[in-house]
Amino acid sequence: MKYELFLKNLKKIDAKVFYDYDIKNLTSFKIGGKAKYFVIVKNTKTLINLLKHCKKYFILGGGTNVLFSDKNYNGTIIKLEGKFKKIKVTKNHITCGSGASLFEINKIAKKNSLSGIEFSYGIPGTIGGAIFGNAGAFDDEILNYVTEVKILKNNKVFWTKNFSHSYRKSCFQDDNSIILSAKIMLNYGNKNEIDALQKANLLKRINSQPYGKPCAGSVFKREINDGKIIFPAKIIDTLGLKGVTIGGAMISTKHAGFIVNENNAKFKDVIKLIKHVKKIVYKNYNLKLKEEIIIVGGKANAYFGRFPHPFKIFKTKPRQRNNS
Ligand SMILES: Cc1cc2nc3c(=O)[nH]c(=O)nc-3n(C[C@H](O)[C@H](O)[C@H](O)COP(=O)(O)OP(=O)(O)OC[C@H]3O[C@@H](n4cnc5c(N)ncnc54)[C@H](O)[C@@H]3O)c2cc1C
Repeated sequence: MKYELFLKNLKKIDAKVFYDYDIKNLTSFKIGGKAKYFVIVKNTKTLINLLKHCKKYFILGGGTNVLFSDKNYNGTIIKLEGKFKKIKVTKNHITCGSGASLFEINKIAKKNSLSGIEFSYGIPGTIGGAIFGNAGAFDDEILNYVTEVKILKNNKVFWTKNFSHSYRKSCFQDDNSIILSAKIMLNYGNKNEIDALQKANLLKRINSQPYGKPCAGSVFKREINDGKIIFPAKIIDTLGLKGVTIGGAMISTKHAGFIVNENNAKFKDVIKLIKHVKKIVYKNYNLKLKEEIIIVGGKANAYFGRFPHPFKIFKTKPRQRNNS
């Protein structure tokens, strides 16, 4: 009740508050129960204030890499907008709030003849989500271009240049930081060439992925076996699993690494399909696939998850911070 009173008193210019919000409308998978509270925060001061009051929360970017349980989320889903969407160019640097979309950042890079992140044109979602998961494509990844990140960690806000990263992994996954802004360093380039590369990359996606269908990108991470990169999509395709359907969830017929919400899929349909794929891949290749998508809710230990950190295999309590 105290928390609800606090939410009621949040200024409309600083935040928007919703109750019992349909999570499926917040994610590209279009799956999920209701969030008890959904708050769109527009500046850092309000975010800090909110975090002081809320016990259980989940920071959502564009919602394009997450699978939420159909069970209701008994906490606050927080989305960063307002000032968090600002993008500023200084010489060959782009400074952007974590809520800015990769699409907008790419558009501004092109307008200013800045080259480097064309590989990311067409990856949906925000720069915050992209940094968190070190999003990548065509043998490149976003953290190769990010020079500084402003984070909120242990109630402190600071810029850091010190962040480790590897394939689909950033240190921010391990320390519960909230990414507030980032500086991206690019090279001066030719606007027409940047434009052409962006368009070519987008076209490759449209031609090879179930672009536009409800999904959350590649479900499984690449694996390294005997020094060789194993592409899950290739294996899944070879095993003839394209088009396999459980309930409303289907392994995309266009790209075997994607599961699509073909027909009002439930959380359990996707989970069963993931388990099915893992079982067959393990049986045939002795390989344990790991999820690239972030699974929020559901039964504990049911999935290996993307992160070894207990906060990140969300079990039933996603991203909890104890402020009591
Ligand atoms: C059609 C399609 C194609 C895709 N192609 C690719 C691809 O080529 N390469 C690729 O890497 N991914 C791809 N993805 C997956 C996804 O788009 C990316 O991982 C994207 O970077 C996720 O960003 P987001 O803002 O949507 O994050 P969300 O899905 O909202 O969140 C992902 C994680 O990041 C955390 N997070 C988000 N913002 C913050 C923040 N500010 N601070 C701290 N944590 C935060 C969330 O808590 C969550 O754990 C694709 C997805 C789709 C649907």
